Amino acid sequence: MIHMFQPSVGAKELEAVGKVFDSNWLGYGQQTKAFEKDFADHLGVPPETLLFVNSATSGLGLAIELLNLGPGDDVVLPAVSFVSNASTVAATGARPVFCDVDSRTLNPSVADIAAVLTPQTKAVTVLHYGGLPGDVIAIAALCRERGITLIEDAACSVASTVNGRACGTFGDIGIWSFDSRKIITTGDGGMIYVRDTELARRAHRLAYHGMEDRGAFAAAAKEPRRWWDQQIHEIGRRLIGNDVTAAMGRVQLRRLPDFVKRRGAIMAEYDWLLADATDIQRPPRLPAGHVSTNYFYWVQLDPEIRDEVAEDLLRRGIYTTFRYPPLHRVPLYGSAADLPGTDAAAASTLLLPLHQALTDTEVQRVARELLAAVDARTHRRAA
Ligand SMILES: *Cc1c(COP(=O)(O)O)cnc(C)c1O
Repeated sequence: MIHMFQPSVGAKELEAVGKVFDSNWLGYGQQTKAFEKDFADHLGVPPETLLFVNSATSGLGLAIELLNLGPGDDVVLPAVSFVSNASTVAATGARPVFCDVDSRTLNPSVADIAAVLTPQTKAVTVLHYGGLPGDVIAIAALCRERGITLIEDAACSVASTVNGRACGTFGDIGIWSFDSRKIITTGDGGMIYVRDTELARRAHRLAYHGMEDRGAFAAAAKEPRRWWDQQIHEIGRRLIGNDVTAAMGRVQLRRLPDFVKRRGAIMAEYDWLLADATDIQRPPRLPAGHVSTNYFYWVQLDPEIRDEVAEDLLRRGIYTTFRYPPLHRVPLYGSAADLPGTDAAAASTLLLPLHQALTDTEVQRVARELLAAVDARTHRRAA
């Protein structure tokens, strides 16, 4: 079976985790701080603006909480988004408002966002589809101009940049995921970036029971009396990461450039193998200055045959999928919004297996089977 996603973890990660076991400190501690620092260096932001959390969804929930939203407030997001982008908004009583995406890139344009902004819009959330940065510079400028908070869901764009600047740092808040299907993984985990350092401190408090200072032990060293006292002014949650998973994350981050490179080579191989197929559209080219994390490789097919081709491939031991099923079509968030780019993309797009452990032989097999399946289905229709 050829999988869609597959983690690359091994001896180096085990060794790092072993050292954490030996240290007898498993919770949020030195390794977590070091991972936040490493990730801050990777992004080019100050370490105090980052917090390692137990999932990207926890980070998104925290981001929404920092905005103090409630009934009467709107948050705009592309219909092609992960479900937690809408759920974390709806949980506060605010309303998720879906905008359209480009049918080829599956990212919203600045015009798609502008079209649905109203005086009730308090925030905009965008993701970088499959690692493609998209119109993020123009979208960030629009939000700044209107005084709207921009949240970047950079879950799948851990190595994406525009003109050298990291995706996730163009807006006010950014989120990354280290879920087991992501390019670098800590099993479960995520990172949140909060540009405003005061707000970042509030994020730290809200992520751990609303407590003022998690470094109680450090404080206790200076003031030995009653180190168990607590300063709590707000309702908090329990969203922080730990040293076991952080140690894994530090190793994965060091391996990231190799992962991205290998994935790029696989994508180039797919591009080359599928170049002559007139019934298969390959992913759009990146604009100048844009760098992708190479998280998804997708093809676009005639909607009449897309599902059948996916089934044919599955029967031949090859998983394909589609991300992210449009949220204006799921029962909980269903709406009559007219989003033609989204609907066209959702009907035609198929993601092919892409992970750094795929062999050249497997890549060739996927391309060969895809060409055969498309050919067979196209001719059966024509007959
Ligand atoms: C995976 C993913 C998430 C959720 O990440 P978790 O760490 O599983 O919470 C959110 N947004 C996007 C775009 C994702 O791909």
